[in-house]
Amino acid sequence: MPTYQYRCLDCSYEFEEFQAISDPPLTVCPVCHGKTERIITGGAGLIFKGSGFYITDHRSSQYKAEAAKENKSTAKPSKHKSPKESSKPPTTSPATSS
Ligand SMILES: [Zn+2]
Repeated sequence: MPTYQYRCLDCSYEFEEFQAISDPPLTVCPVCHGKTERIITGGAGLIFKGSGFYITDHRSSQYKAEAAKENKSTAKPSKHKSPKESSKPPTTSPATSS
């Protein structure tokens, strides 16, 4: 049975819980009965400990704005090439057959 780590979003209380994989995640803090979230462990490097999870939140919104900006500038390449421009100039060379 894996050990799941939880953290309370209200009081930042962290605790571990033995649960089966099929068990539903805990959502209630045993201390203040606030909302908890499951901390994903397992060596993925995604452990948010202590304070700082709101920093990632801030960063993600900034990243989104940044991405939107970039997306705007690269969305339309300013190439206005009309297909009519590729018409060849008429070559009126008289056919000289001797
Ligand atoms: Zn709590």
